[in-house]
Amino acid sequence: MADNLEPRQDPGLPVPNPCVSFWQQTTRSFPYLNVNKDEPVPTESKYVIIGSGISGGLTTYELIQGGVSASDIIILEAREAASGASSRNAGHVRPDAFRGFQVYKQLHGKEQALKIIANEKLVFERVKEFTEKHNVQCDFNPTTTFDVCMTSEFADFNARSFKQYQDAGGDVSHIKFYSGEEARRVTRVSQAVAAYEWPAGSSHPAKLAQWLLTQCIAQGVKLYTHCPALSVTKSGTSPADSVVWEISTPRGTTKATTVIHCTNAFAPYLLPQLTTFITPNRAQAHAFVPPPSLSAANILPSTMSLRHTLKHFYSVAQRRPDGIIILGAPIANPKLSPDAALARLTTNDGVYNEEVRKDCVENFETTFEEAEKGRLRHGEGLLHTWTGIVGMTTDSVPFVGRVEGAEGQWVCAGFNGHGMARIFTCAPGVAKLILGGSWADTGLPECFEITQERLEKLQKGVSGSVF
Ligand SMILES: Cc1cc2nc3c(=O)[nH]c(=O)nc-3n(C[C@H](O)[C@H](O)[C@H](O)COP(=O)(O)OP(=O)(O)OC[C@H]3O[C@@H](n4cnc5c(N)ncnc54)[C@H](O)[C@@H]3O)c2cc1C
Repeated sequence: MADNLEPRQDPGLPVPNPCVSFWQQTTRSFPYLNVNKDEPVPTESKYVIIGSGISGGLTTYELIQGGVSASDIIILEAREAASGASSRNAGHVRPDAFRGFQVYKQLHGKEQALKIIANEKLVFERVKEFTEKHNVQCDFNPTTTFDVCMTSEFADFNARSFKQYQDAGGDVSHIKFYSGEEARRVTRVSQAVAAYEWPAGSSHPAKLAQWLLTQCIAQGVKLYTHCPALSVTKSGTSPADSVVWEISTPRGTTKATTVIHCTNAFAPYLLPQLTTFITPNRAQAHAFVPPPSLSAANILPSTMSLRHTLKHFYSVAQRRPDGIIILGAPIANPKLSPDAALARLTTNDGVYNEEVRKDCVENFETTFEEAEKGRLRHGEGLLHTWTGIVGMTTDSVPFVGRVEGAEGQWVCAGFNGHGMARIFTCAPGVAKLILGGSWADTGLPECFEITQERLEKLQKGVSGSVF
């Protein structure tokens, strides 16, 4: 169903009737999809995690690894298990290798910008290591990715970013550069002006999220689906002098001394201090059945981002197991009508935007001439379109850590439509902090920490966007 909606910045709660993404269509047999959907929540639990996406699942997993008893943890999820962005994305696990450096440097300074880029590389390595070590069946495909510069303006922008990053001491040893004819040959994109290649991957994100939840549930964690947290209010102190929080839900109230917000775009609903610093944006993705020229031995070996400008880009990742091509639509596209451009400001992931769909598919068909509509057979071409809500932050980095002024509350949210390249260090980081570690123990860039100082800086209007 296509939409025509009023834009909205206040996230509220996730809408109750989201559409079913390609990833969800292919995992309907997950046994915990609607687990405990009619059960009342317990009156108390030491740890309450709000949100069951990859952040919530991995934070829970890491707490258990760190020694927390699984039976002391409950997860509250507003809809079916992992029904947020984690089961609705474009499948890319794609670190930024240098492109965002110029903007990060302006926002956070040179040292932090270097750390942000280094952290993304580390996340890719962590996801690879984790999925291999635990044999996670999530179709993880470690390969390379191309940033394909579709215009000379963007080629210039990328060249500047690359140079600035290299001059600042950034590691570029893993990045290959191609220009002109060579770029067109390696990428198979006839309009390519230049291209950069570096290690990246793709996965079936819902399978990864579900694997994490399965491990936690097997250890004794209880997941309550279709059970939104409606409020978190102070209700006194425990015998050990910790603040006790009361989390209300439609199925009762539970008391906890540790509450972890893994609600990404929806974090401001329960943490109003994040309103305007995390804003929900709707993103759209598409699944495409390839023609023979992109099938079998002709499958695209690498993923790519077809870049017209910093924000006008299309992501392309072809899946190994079935050859389906996942197309991510651009965040901003100057060609779209004002209505379609505004449609991304809604939180309604029950529907998609027809104009965005048309533009995205047309772009793919023009880029890969073999995929032209007139030449496709019945059964080839667009298979499915879906949407999901991403959490954009005003300074392009997530909020991780202790919520100041709310002892016992923690957050890991605001992934800027880029969580697959961030969560695998942020979630273990927040778990370390909860277990008593210092910020240095997390290894995360300091600018990711949610501090009063950062919120005050943002209040003054410091902002900028890489995404
Ligand atoms: C179309 C699209 C394409 C994308 N493509 C990519 C990509 O290719 N690569 C990449 O790195 N990233 C991509 N992303 C972003 C990525 O999916 C997210 O950054 C990541 O999934 C965030 O994970 P999370 O667990 O923090 O949030 P989510 O997966 O959104 O999980 C948050 C959960 O919290 C629940 N929730 C919210 N409020 C409450 C409440 N009050 N009570 C209980 N539960 C609540 C939600 O229902 C949801 O399940 C894309 C996102 C979209 C939508």
